[in-house]
Amino acid sequence: MAGNNRTFAQSRAADQEKLLALREARQAWTRAGDPVARLYRRASTTLSLERLLGIFSEELAHALPYGQMVYRHQLGYQEFVYTNGLGGSHRCDYQLTLEGVNYGAISFNRRLRFAEEELEAIEFLLSILICPLRNACQYAMVEQAALTDSLTEIPNKRALDLELARDCSLDDRHGDAYTLILCDLDHFKAVNDNFGHVIGDHILQATAKALREAIRDGDTIFRFGGEEFAIVLPHAETPAGKEVADRIRKAIHDIRIPCGEHQVRVTASAGVAAHRTGESPTQWLARADDALYRAKNAGRNCTQVAHVVTGNRQAHM
Ligand code: GH3
Ligand code: MG
Ligand code: MG
Repeated sequence: MAGNNRTFAQSRAADQEKLLALREARQAWTRAGDPVARLYRRASTTLSLERLLGIFSEELAHALPYGQMVYRHQLGYQEFVYTNGLGGSHRCDYQLTLEGVNYGAISFNRRLRFAEEELEAIEFLLSILICPLRNACQYAMVEQAALTDSLTEIPNKRALDLELARDCSLDDRHGDAYTLILCDLDHFKAVNDNFGHVIGDHILQATAKALREAIRDGDTIFRFGGEEFAIVLPHAETPAGKEVADRIRKAIHDIRIPCGEHQVRVTASAGVAAHRTGESPTQWLARADDALYRAKNAGRNCTQVAHVVTGNRQAHM
């Protein structure tokens, strides 16, 4: 019994020693003033590419002075660019790869030449960055896949929901103008029935491409449903929205998909709704959908703009 008690006391003391050592290691780790430990620690706290590069640029700035850092990487269909600071005429560039996979290019600029020891320091810190960077790139790709329609490679309905929620709140807080266009291919079921689903799919892909080419930088397109597309225009009110909707419909009508001796063509109908301050995404979408419904009822191949309820009257806006 006495022997057992001694063993127990000894093993408790050993456990406490281990805990103490762990606490000391943690304190040394969290208080470490050197950029290497701090970079390790901070880089492991995020999967956001932007946040990670922000942390890296801060820690690098502690180690050596540089003017500007630029990082570029093609992530699926989007080019991710991170840049901060101001440039200079001296530059060093690195291609970031891990296990043969490319994770983008990073460059540093400044007015003074980089000394050999400084380049070594940059390369050492980049070697710490590379694993968290790979994780952040992979996370961004998974996130993008969840928000992308696989047939047309444009953002999907889930991405539209996020966009509408963001736009509603920006309009409510800052009065930014946003206009939503819903665009639906006419009699698309008949296209599938007459020419087959493969041709139908080609038309959907060509439509996404035509939309991409018809919009301006800053506008976003989405595949909202089967043969329905949504376009969000920032800084645009109803008249501009109607103009864009008509341009988009023309671009869709210009598409020709060869099928045997036929050239398959489609038309589209569109509904346009400018966001009204205080309106929820669902209400906004419903007004655009109502306008689209009226375009269908008006004979298709046309654009209608949404109703706005003003007091007890209805106006078209
Ligand atoms: P309307 O002018 O009233 O919009 O008529 P519509 O035939 O276009 O509309 P409806 O809702 O009756 O049919 C939509 C069709 O879109 C039926 C469906 O087979 C087709 N569709 C939906 N998604 C896809 C897709 O991914 N590929 C193909 N090929 N067809 C699709
Ligand atoms: Mg349709
Ligand atoms: Mg439809």
